[in-house]
Amino acid sequence: MSGETLQVYFLGTAGALPTPQRNPPCILIRRGPDTLLFDCGEGAQQQMMRARCGFLVNAIFVTHWHADHFLGIFGLVQTMSFNGRTEPLTIYGPEWVQEFVTTLRHVTRFNLKFPIEGVELTDRSWVRFDGYTITAFAVSHGMPALGYALEEDPRPGRFNREGAIALGVPAGPLFGRLQRGETITIGTEGARREVRPEEVLGTPRPGRKIVYTGDTRAIHAGAGEIARNADLLIHDATYDECEAARAAEFYHATAAQAGEAASVLSARTLVLVHVSSRYTDAQAHISDAGKRFSGPVIIPNDLDMVEVPFRD
Ligand SMILES: [Zn+2]
Ligand SMILES: [Zn+2]
Repeated sequence: MSGETLQVYFLGTAGALPTPQRNPPCILIRRGPDTLLFDCGEGAQQQMMRARCGFLVNAIFVTHWHADHFLGIFGLVQTMSFNGRTEPLTIYGPEWVQEFVTTLRHVTRFNLKFPIEGVELTDRSWVRFDGYTITAFAVSHGMPALGYALEEDPRPGRFNREGAIALGVPAGPLFGRLQRGETITIGTEGARREVRPEEVLGTPRPGRKIVYTGDTRAIHAGAGEIARNADLLIHDATYDECEAARAAEFYHATAAQAGEAASVLSARTLVLVHVSSRYTDAQAHISDAGKRFSGPVIIPNDLDMVEVPFRD
């Protein structure tokens, strides 16, 4: 469906160490009936309760196997099991996802009431959902690590109502069929003719796109097309400019580098996450990023929700 809601809940926005205000990384995306988690840091399930998101998670995408990005999965699956979940859960991630799922089964003493499957993803591998695709891309974090791009299918072009009427299509259900891409037949016995959707629809319009980098140095070098033109680019911004050397050493990005990436990749809005616990006030991050990127820059607080609108 083209008109689905697309909401991003920032359940954990901290870097490697939590703070009283920020939980370890966890982003929940709701698109229509689907709920997906991207990373699942410690305490994620309580954040899901606070955000009133429920536990009906369809899949979990882990960016890499640093503990701040997956420790919350243990408690979450235990709660899902207590809640009577029977639907399978798929955990996607880079190399070592199978080892992680095996460990998860051991830690939970094989007591889970639903199956968990681990699926390894690599650079440019993708997972298809109803109406959108999630594509993994390799990032630079000194270990196997992936970013993810959620991209909706293109929407049909705008419906030319006047054009349809001029062609003799009566207003009503036939309009809807044309908008859904069906060819219809109009007229009466002996004078029937077909109207094809391309006669009354404009060029297809792009769907929405969210890119989440996970932990990485600035991504514009290698990410390419898959990370381009995001409505929301959610980028590692662990450090400010004073710590640029440390960022490079530990395979993270500064807020300024995230701004540069957003600019090069033509993002619409930049979201800075994974802010180090050393910063009690991240306003310097906003101004650093703003020097390189002219669009809106957001540093969400935990439990903030951003709704992603269509571009037109
Ligand atoms: Zn991290
Ligand atoms: Zn990491």
